[in-house]
Amino acid sequence: MARCAQCMEPGIGDMAQHQCGSNERLMRYFEFGHLPPKLQRVSRHFYTVADIVRNTVPDGSEKTVCLRKLLEAKDAAVRAALDLPDV
Ligand SMILES: [Zn+2]
Repeated sequence: MARCAQCMEPGIGDMAQHQCGSNERLMRYFEFGHLPPKLQRVSRHFYTVADIVRNTVPDGSEKTVCLRKLLEAKDAAVRAALDLPDV
């Protein structure tokens, strides 16, 4: 699979739709290693899905919407998980 030489994102579909590094920047917000364990247990699954989307969905505005909505869902899940007991 070809990758963008600039940001190393996989080049799927029309590379003219590729916005260099934008999805890479969004992926930062799915990182979970800095969270307390009880929040990591919720958050890490969203990273997995985001990574699958990043690597399988063609670049373009709908992909960015997908990642942004997934990020919104992840943030809500993490807020909800604040009420869980510490593990
Ligand atoms: Zn790029």
